[in-house]
Amino acid sequence: MEFKRMTISQWVKERKEAKEKARLARQSSSAAVVPTKAIAKASITDAKASASSGAASQITHFAAAANLPPPKPIVTGLPPSQELALLQKHFLTPINKLDNHGFVPSIPTDADIQKARDAQEVSKGWEQCERCLKRFQVFPGRRESDGALTSGGICVHHPGKFKRTEQKMDCCGEYSSSAKGCETSPCHIFKVTDPKRLASLWNFVETPPNASPNVHKAVSFDCEMAYTVYGLEVVRVTATSWPKGEVILDVLVRPLGSIIDFNSKFSGVFASDFAAASLHPTISEAMPRQNTSGRPVLPLVASPQDARSLLHSLISPETVLLGHALENDLRALRMVHNRVSDTALLYPHPKGLPIRYSLRVLAKDHMDRIVQTGGNVTGHDSAEDARVAGELVLVKIKIKWASMRRDGWELVDGVMTKGA
Ligand SMILES: [Zn+2]
Ligand SMILES: [Zn+2]
Repeated sequence: MEFKRMTISQWVKERKEAKEKARLARQSSSAAVVPTKAIAKASITDAKASASSGAASQITHFAAAANLPPPKPIVTGLPPSQELALLQKHFLTPINKLDNHGFVPSIPTDADIQKARDAQEVSKGWEQCERCLKRFQVFPGRRESDGALTSGGICVHHPGKFKRTEQKMDCCGEYSSSAKGCETSPCHIFKVTDPKRLASLWNFVETPPNASPNVHKAVSFDCEMAYTVYGLEVVRVTATSWPKGEVILDVLVRPLGSIIDFNSKFSGVFASDFAAASLHPTISEAMPRQNTSGRPVLPLVASPQDARSLLHSLISPETVLLGHALENDLRALRMVHNRVSDTALLYPHPKGLPIRYSLRVLAKDHMDRIVQTGGNVTGHDSAEDARVAGELVLVKIKIKWASMRRDGWELVDGVMTKGA
C-alpha cells in the first residue's frame, strides 16, 4: 500500500526521479521508432475486436479512441495478469476513512434522506452561486410567472483564481478577487456534495454481484458533469479497460434536471452534442457513429440510472475501479464501491488532503505527457482522462517491479517468482 504522506524531501526526490525517468523514456522511444499511425490503428482494431465479443462492449466508442493522441505505452515488463496482481496487492487506495473528503463509503439511510428532504423544503430552492457567491433561487419545474429556471439574472464572475505570488487574479489581472467579475454567464450555478442530499434525488447503491463473462477485473473510468437545476449532474460516462486502455463504454447521459449550464469549458460536452445524439434505450442498440464534421457522436442514454446500469454490466464488487479524484465520479453515479485505485491518493500532495495534484500535473511529471484538461475550446476528454489515470497506476507498477527485481524476483513462466 503506497498511500502515505510524503515529506518535502521525499517529494522532491520523487519529482527528480520522475523527470529522470521521463528523460530515459524519451531516449528509448526515439531509439525504437514506432509509426504513430500504426499504434492508433491497432488500438481501434482491438476496440472493434472486443466490441464484437459481448453485448456490453458493443457500446465501445471507436471515434473517441481514434481522436486520442497515440499513447506512449507504459512498459512495466510484466504480463497483464501480473500487473493486475500487483495492483490488487499494493496499489488499492482505501477510502473508508475518507468520507470527509467526498467519498461515500456507505449508502445514506432513509432517515438521513428524509432529513435532507425536509431541509430542502425549508430552503425553497435558495442556493449560493458557485462562481459569484450570490444567493439565487432555482425552480426545477420552471417559475410559473415567466418559465425561468433560476432567479438573479446573469452571473458576473472571475473564472480564474487569485494568485498570491503575483497578488492578482490569474484570469484578468485584477488586484482583488472582490473586483467586478471579468466574465458573464447567462445564469448562476450550484453544486451539491452532501451525500444525504444527493441521495434524496436518487439514491446510492453498492455495486451488485455480476456473473457475466464480460466482467472486467479492473476498469478505469471518468465522468463529465454539467450544471442542472439539481446541481452538478453527470452528462458523459467513459470507461476504459485496464491495463490495455481500450474504451469499453462511452455515452452521453440525459440528466434528471434541466441543464442550465453545460460547463463546456471543463466538460467538453456541448448542447450540440446532445442535439446530434439519438436515444439508445438498451446497450445493444447503442452504436456510435461519426458526423460529417468529424466530431464523434456518442450514444445517449435516458438517465443517470441507465448509465450506472451500463457500467455495472461491466464490473462486479471485486473489480478495481481506477481513476483520478474518483469521489466526484462515484458521487455523480451514486456508486458505493470501495475497491478503488485513485491516482489522487496514489500520488499524494506533500501538504496532504484536501490538496491534490491535478491529473495534468501528474501526467506531465510522471509520464512527460501533456493532456488536455480544460481551459480550451474542447475541454476535458473523459476517454483520455480515464486512460491517463490507468497509465499512472502502471507507472507505479513499473517502479515496484523494478525494485522487486533488484530484490531477486523474476518472471518464471509469466508469473512473478522470488528467486533463491
Ligand atoms: Zn477575472
Ligand atoms: Zn453567479
